[in-house]
Amino acid sequence: MTQRPVVIAGGGIGGMATALTLHQIGVPCVMLESVREMKPLGVGINLQPNAVRELDDLGITEAELDEVGVPAKEWALVGLNGNDIYTEPRGKLAGYRWHQYAVHRGKLQMLLYRKVLERMGSASVQLGARVSGYRKLPDGGVMVHIAHADGTRGDIPAAMLIGADGIHSAVRGQMHPAQTPIHWGGSIMWRGVAWAKPIRSGASFVGLGTHKHRVVFYPISHPHPESGLALINWIAEVTHDKADEKQLSGWFRQVSVESFVHHFDGWTWDWLDVPALIRDAGVAFENPMIDRDPVPTWIDGPVALMGDAAHAMYPTGSNGASQAIIDARVLGAMLCEHGVTEAALEAYNSRLCGPISRLILRNRGAGPFGLLNLVDERCAGRFDNIDEVIPPGERNAFMADYKAAAGFAMEALNAAPRTLAPDARVPESPVLQRLTAV
Ligand SMILES: Cc1cc2nc3c(=O)[nH]c(=O)nc-3n(C[C@H](O)[C@H](O)[C@H](O)COP(=O)(O)OP(=O)(O)OC[C@H]3O[C@@H](n4cnc5c(N)ncnc54)[C@H](O)[C@@H]3O)c2cc1C
Repeated sequence: MTQRPVVIAGGGIGGMATALTLHQIGVPCVMLESVREMKPLGVGINLQPNAVRELDDLGITEAELDEVGVPAKEWALVGLNGNDIYTEPRGKLAGYRWHQYAVHRGKLQMLLYRKVLERMGSASVQLGARVSGYRKLPDGGVMVHIAHADGTRGDIPAAMLIGADGIHSAVRGQMHPAQTPIHWGGSIMWRGVAWAKPIRSGASFVGLGTHKHRVVFYPISHPHPESGLALINWIAEVTHDKADEKQLSGWFRQVSVESFVHHFDGWTWDWLDVPALIRDAGVAFENPMIDRDPVPTWIDGPVALMGDAAHAMYPTGSNGASQAIIDARVLGAMLCEHGVTEAALEAYNSRLCGPISRLILRNRGAGPFGLLNLVDERCAGRFDNIDEVIPPGERNAFMADYKAAAGFAMEALNAAPRTLAPDARVPESPVLQRLTAV
């Protein structure tokens, strides 16, 4: 008699959070990851307080997050004239019960990976194992098809398959064979990291420029005690009026900073030198800003999508990784309520698919950066007193609306019960026994 596990396709932040959650609630699982070796890839991402809360509930401490990032203190939009458009405190400084963290994506992924190995053992992860498809079984389970990096193929019978395999998800491709191609709206981002003195609060997220031409930067490490320098993540962005794919030389690739830094010539103030910050990085990653059109459902019987596989979105709201963590926790809660059943996946889907699909479309409208659109429209970026362009009430209402849609409105989050109680466990049920016993 062997256990039939839940199989997780993909070991990104979403897959790792799912594995840790399933382990916490007593559901056997195996994570299949296509890369042969886990490496700390990527640059900066933000973890909103709702996601930090869930990591806390998973036993990931602030001290551990401080090793892969830094609590964000401020979020600020600044015009090209160097004047503030909107600023607000973030995380605990704003009154949340949890920090917002700005972290190195790859280091966070490795932290979660270490936790998976420590808690679940090395047999719980298979590297070099790409999920190539699935077949639903008559008994309610699912056969997961795997293409191994050594060229061999295999199958694993599973109680469920969770597709956490990112924006190019094979699981989603099978679930929605007629899905539209990846959507690109005309923006190109170049991302990099450089050591520099953190400005403003010392841990500020700053978006500077216009809706179509801007730079975003924030520290993702504590300052070095002697030099005072911190690792600064920057994203330089230019939007073309027409999204002509001929403007793209690749979807994700490493480029020299000299190939694009000219877009930011003259972006220097006495408190910031954007071309110098970009040049200090040496290399950058060119990423078109892409997402996927929402799909009507994230489930197909015992198969569910989560994270970018379910809702790849523009990073304008800084909530892609946070939402992946929330997905994992809501999935866990639904499994505790309904057992390892299709009803649990249906409850997960009806809780999240609709609202998060709307958030994808909202982020296409620039998410919280939408305030920059208003400044462009009303004064072409020229203002002395922002209150005369967008009154404070309008600015505050805009941001409150966005945060409510993204699930991190402060009062609601602070008052919300835990997604999963510490002692929550999946119920023993005849259905679970049938699906996990072969
Ligand atoms: C290498 C990399 C670098 C990134 N860098 C940044 C960044 O700098 N800033 C930022 O904002 N966002 C970045 N992202 C995206 C960000 O991590 C995600 O938006 C967010 O964390 C949600 O994560 P996810 O787990 O759903 O998807 P992802 O992070 O994309 O993880 C998906 C995982 O699944 C694996 N995989 C893919 N297909 C299969 C398959 N068929 N079978 C098994 N495994 C599969 C991938 O190797 C990957 O490890 C990056 C993603 C990747 C993969």
